[in-house]
Amino acid sequence: MRRVLVAGNWKMHKVPSEARVWLAELKRLLPPLEAEAAILPAFPILPVAKEVLSETQVAYGAQDVSAHREGAYTGEVSARMLKDLGCRYAIVGHSERRRYHHETDALVAEKAKRLLEEGITPILCVGEPLEVRERGEAEAYTLRQLLGSLEGVEPEGPERLVIAYEPVWAIGTGKNATPEDAEAMHRAIRKALSERYGEAFASRVRILYGGSVNPKNFADLLSMPNVDGGLVGGASLELESFLALLRIA
Ligand code: PEP
Repeated sequence: MRRVLVAGNWKMHKVPSEARVWLAELKRLLPPLEAEAAILPAFPILPVAKEVLSETQVAYGAQDVSAHREGAYTGEVSARMLKDLGCRYAIVGHSERRRYHHETDALVAEKAKRLLEEGITPILCVGEPLEVRERGEAEAYTLRQLLGSLEGVEPEGPERLVIAYEPVWAIGTGKNATPEDAEAMHRAIRKALSERYGEAFASRVRILYGGSVNPKNFADLLSMPNVDGGLVGGASLELESFLALLRIA
């Protein structure tokens, strides 16, 4: 009842002309999909994604959004702009933004609210750094981050929210969480969502795993009952590996 989502976070890779070729190839080679596929490129690539992917099964979205609606905020990109470009999703609270741009849970919650106002589904990222896991506090840390980032966030329905559990020590390191560790955290996240939004809502929210997902480890991660897909960085950049992930899903 939860459709698997494979979302490729391209981070600050590819220029629009490269992306155009890549996306056109994806469109040409796309197998019939049971899962949902999404590409999350940098802002300047979104008009290209709109052009190439509009009539396809592949969704697209952004990696961030402004917490403000409109106005004198140089360099910011609003949810309304993303809506106009046809974005279905946008990431909020990625650990790279929390770390390098000092984004707080409160800011992440504001961003999620702006997206929901425009009918865009936030992919809200949470996850613990290595030292927290080593102290045995991964679950408490991640759930605190989750609930803080959902403060005042009221999605209309469970399809309007996606959570991505991304342990910081697994992102871009080649070290993924074991399927059992991922499952334990996803179960804890779903329980917290159930307390926050009710059981019916929580049972339908998709919780993605992110952190060094690749075609070799994806099937095992996906076999876990509470793992509903992947937020994929490195392995989404190569067309072959992204297609392999879609075939597995
Ligand atoms: C990410 O960018 O969210 C991510 C999980 O990256 P990677 O798959 O490269 O670890």
